[in-house]
Amino acid sequence: MDKTLTGRCMCGAVQYEVNPPFTGVISCHCKDCQRLHGNYNPLLIAEKENFKFTKGEDDVEWYNSSESSERGFCKTCGSQMFKRDKTGPKIKISAGNIDDTSGLQNVKNVWTKEAGGFYTIPPGEQT
Ligand SMILES: [Zn+2]
Ligand SMILES: [Zn+2]
Repeated sequence: MDKTLTGRCMCGAVQYEVNPPFTGVISCHCKDCQRLHGNYNPLLIAEKENFKFTKGEDDVEWYNSSESSERGFCKTCGSQMFKRDKTGPKIKISAGNIDDTSGLQNVKNVWTKEAGGFYTIPPGEQT
């Protein structure tokens, strides 16, 4: 996967563009993610410096979800879009927000001990 990806929230107020390299898609099965997303949370891991908003940066609300990280969602439609370390170089983008996900693969699953009973854990390394 070496192409520029674009994505947006459901209502279209927030739009972005992100360039490689990507670490790949990592699915988080923790209970926090399930509460926020209604399901497990597949995140594309990218570098903050390769990410930019093309529309609606001010339409994102950032929420302190833990001591070290925050999550961003659209103020209008509520789409859960981002998770980022407050100090680290990475941004984690909800894979479902990305326009064209062909060619993306789930490489890893984390927090599988908290996985929901109603779904199957996707292929990929498990921790
Ligand atoms: Zn929206
Ligand atoms: Zn999680």
